[in-house]
Amino acid sequence: MFLEGLYRPIERLVEGSREQRIRLERAPFGLEKLAKIAIKHAVYLVLSVFVAHVFVSYFVSIPRLWEMMRSHPSDHPEAFAWAFTVTGLLYVNFAWFREQLCLIVCPYGRLQSALVDDDSITIGYDDARGEPRGKLGADGAGDCVDCKRCVVVCPTAIDIRNGMQLDCIGCTACIDACDEVMDKLGRKRGLVRYDSLNGLMAKPKRFLRSRLYVYTFFGLLGLAVATFAFKKHVDFEANLLRLPGLPYVTEAGKIRNSFEIHLVNKRGGTETFLLEPVPVQGVAFVVPLQKIELASLAGARAPFFVVVDGGQFHGDFPVSVHVRRVGGEEAGGTTVVAQFLGPSNQPAR
Ligand code: SF4
Ligand code: SF4
Repeated sequence: MFLEGLYRPIERLVEGSREQRIRLERAPFGLEKLAKIAIKHAVYLVLSVFVAHVFVSYFVSIPRLWEMMRSHPSDHPEAFAWAFTVTGLLYVNFAWFREQLCLIVCPYGRLQSALVDDDSITIGYDDARGEPRGKLGADGAGDCVDCKRCVVVCPTAIDIRNGMQLDCIGCTACIDACDEVMDKLGRKRGLVRYDSLNGLMAKPKRFLRSRLYVYTFFGLLGLAVATFAFKKHVDFEANLLRLPGLPYVTEAGKIRNSFEIHLVNKRGGTETFLLEPVPVQGVAFVVPLQKIELASLAGARAPFFVVVDGGQFHGDFPVSVHVRRVGGEEAGGTTVVAQFLGPSNQPAR
């Protein structure tokens, strides 16, 4: 869609029709050639930057993106890195790599060839109608006048008249080209068309078949898994980590463990989070920062101490902190857990 709807029209606008582009490519380097190439790539770059920013805005919101665009990249390095990388990928892919992505990188085409059968709708050539191909007016010739327009327009340089091929990316350029030829000749459109192999061979077509049920089952299964995963999604990340250094400290008859809570706000705007220790009898919790305000995609580390009277310590036990976002419709939050360690229990290394 990006290639045919955006980048290719720019190419046609700047460098002209296919024939003009071929002539330009073969021409020696001169001012006109350089100017056209420079303009085309400059527009490609601007377009790639724009699309990359639209992509980033999905995650950080448009007002926040606008704010970021007016500040220095070092103020928001992650968003800048994403915008920079996506711009590069778009530019390289659509200015140069193009259909090679479908042929070399994308597994979908290969997978698709294993999924189709004789009743699957693909792009095909009507052999019975077109063959034997021959020049216009040739005796006994079919509807194909062997003009090769369908081959010339094919971005992967295949001849659809040779049957369904793995390299076909389904762009339909050959259908449009052949329909134009048929229109000029006053013949019926659809010599190259969307149809099943059975349809192209005028055999009876089947819609409901066993693979359709199997694919539907797996499609619904995927949907159910995705729905479950989305429902479990939390809009912030919280981890309870032990602070580097000694696993515990004994002081004035008390045992102290030091932790920190690592928080990341995954929402589009600034949010406030509350840290609430889950009470345990005989255990004191010290949370210097109970309320933390975080900008979109920002992270923070909050120290967190647990103190137990030495006489009451009888072995490791878990300590938990409930973290929740203040306000919001789903203020459920999450509970993070760590192990309290004392003198007779060294952590495994
Ligand atoms: S749809 Fe036609 S033009 Fe497009 S890749 Fe397939 S054969 Fe080529
Ligand atoms: S464009 Fe149509 S008529 Fe021309 S070669 Fe292809 S199939 Fe035949």
